Amino acid sequence: MMFQYDLVVVGSGPAGRRGAIQAAKLGKKVLVIEAGKRVGGVSVHTGTIPSKTLRETALNLSGWRERGFYGRSYRVKQEISAEDLRRRLLITLDHEVEVLEHQFARNRVQHIRGKASFVDANTLQVVKDDGETMNVTGASILLAVGTKPFRPDYMPFDGKTVLDSDELLDMEELPRSMVVIGAGVIGIEYATIFSALDTAVTVIDPKSTMLDFIDKEIIEDFTYQLRDRNMKLFLGTKADKVERLDNGKVQLTLDNGRLIVTDMVLFAAGRMGATDTLNLQAIGLEADSRGRLKVNPETFQTSVPNIYAAGDVVGFPSLASTSMEQGRIAARVAIGAVAKEPQKYFPYGIYAVPEISTCGLTEEEMRERGIPYECGIARFRETSRGHIMGLDTGLLKLIFSLKTRRLLGVHIVGEGATELVHIGQAVLNLKGTVEYFVENTFNYPTLAEAYKIAGLDAWNRMGDIKSEL
Ligand SMILES: Cc1cc2nc3c(=O)[nH]c(=O)nc-3n(C[C@H](O)[C@H](O)[C@H](O)COP(=O)(O)OP(=O)(O)OC[C@H]3O[C@@H](n4cnc5c(N)ncnc54)[C@H](O)[C@@H]3O)c2cc1C
Repeated sequence: MMFQYDLVVVGSGPAGRRGAIQAAKLGKKVLVIEAGKRVGGVSVHTGTIPSKTLRETALNLSGWRERGFYGRSYRVKQEISAEDLRRRLLITLDHEVEVLEHQFARNRVQHIRGKASFVDANTLQVVKDDGETMNVTGASILLAVGTKPFRPDYMPFDGKTVLDSDELLDMEELPRSMVVIGAGVIGIEYATIFSALDTAVTVIDPKSTMLDFIDKEIIEDFTYQLRDRNMKLFLGTKADKVERLDNGKVQLTLDNGRLIVTDMVLFAAGRMGATDTLNLQAIGLEADSRGRLKVNPETFQTSVPNIYAAGDVVGFPSLASTSMEQGRIAARVAIGAVAKEPQKYFPYGIYAVPEISTCGLTEEEMRERGIPYECGIARFRETSRGHIMGLDTGLLKLIFSLKTRRLLGVHIVGEGATELVHIGQAVLNLKGTVEYFVENTFNYPTLAEAYKIAGLDAWNRMGDIKSEL
């Protein structure tokens, strides 16, 4: 049977974009269908890039990085407005879209704007903004439709005072106080960014712990830093009632009876796979209760052989970085090219203030797996670069196997964590041992020197233990 395209990709976020370009580079005819106004997906328009741009702007304008020297009241700009934050955002987004459109053009990836749904396993109907419809056919289809914010009925969303994380980017005024519901990655990132802008932030989550996949010691340090700057963390608590008041504020009634009145509520408790409008029943596919699709974790193939799914729509880890790799692998398998499995350990970055980044096993996982281990710790204030930067916080923790002396986990909280983690990631995936850090020279003065300090810390305690196990 002849199809119009070798591969049709639905969604132009990291998974769709990478998958489409990969197939086109291997000489295949590829179409991307994107429902949004511009290509780029959640990653470019409402997720990764906007939140990180907002963070960078907030840190620059607030003078956050200089406060170690000049005190907590130091500001670069006294009055920071929502418009100040938006200006840089628009420039960054334009640039991202331009780069992506150029990549599509260079690689001859065609793209059309419209909402896709299944007619059969090889045919998609595309509905354009003006209501016009067309059908397109593909030998294989890659679903990279991502997610949208979960919006429960009991939340009185109004896009101004009660918002989800997509709407937050259009806020008209910076709130003086804010309640964030949901202590997951998105909630914590925004909570700490607004706290750096001196908004009084309260975080509420029914779970009594947060970010459980991160090493506990790192979370303890992080939590201490948040409390030290007066952020309120109400963990193990639920908001039973959220109501807008006549004075424009919002009142929350918590399940422990406590009342909070705030300028703004950000609801960031989960996202749903954007599968509800794909007409999956036409091809016999079913999404789970959170709209996610099940795939073979190695090939990203669904139970329908020519249909693949990658990115956030297949669930954890739901990162732009991992989505790209999944999209690339799915596209290669779909067009019959060899697809090597990605490296075992990938980094996780949480762009909170301060940043957290981690790769490999946590101390808790080492214990669960019964692997004898030793940890090495370095504080950024022990490095000369840390002194120069005025850092009195920041922690790097390395975990080594006592049996093999190999590095099995790197965990960082503090300035530059999401960049620094890649040194640890390389050593981990290349199966390096504690000796790598002890014997190698690091640039001086750098924060990377913390690796040497942490390596020596562990090495001093590890001694010759290896031969005894
Ligand atoms: C606030 C926030 C901050 C984040 N920060 C980070 C971070 O710092 N680092 C990181 O790695 N990740 C981060 N993420 C996660 C990251 O954005 C996602 O992992 C990534 O965007 C997922 O990519 P994707 O390709 O699965 O799809 P998405 O980027 O979600 O894009 C899916 C696209 O598909 C389109 N689409 C959906 N249905 C249809 C249809 N029926 N027809 C046509 N088009 C359709 C949508 O319009 C959308 O453009 C963040 C997410 C959020 C929300």
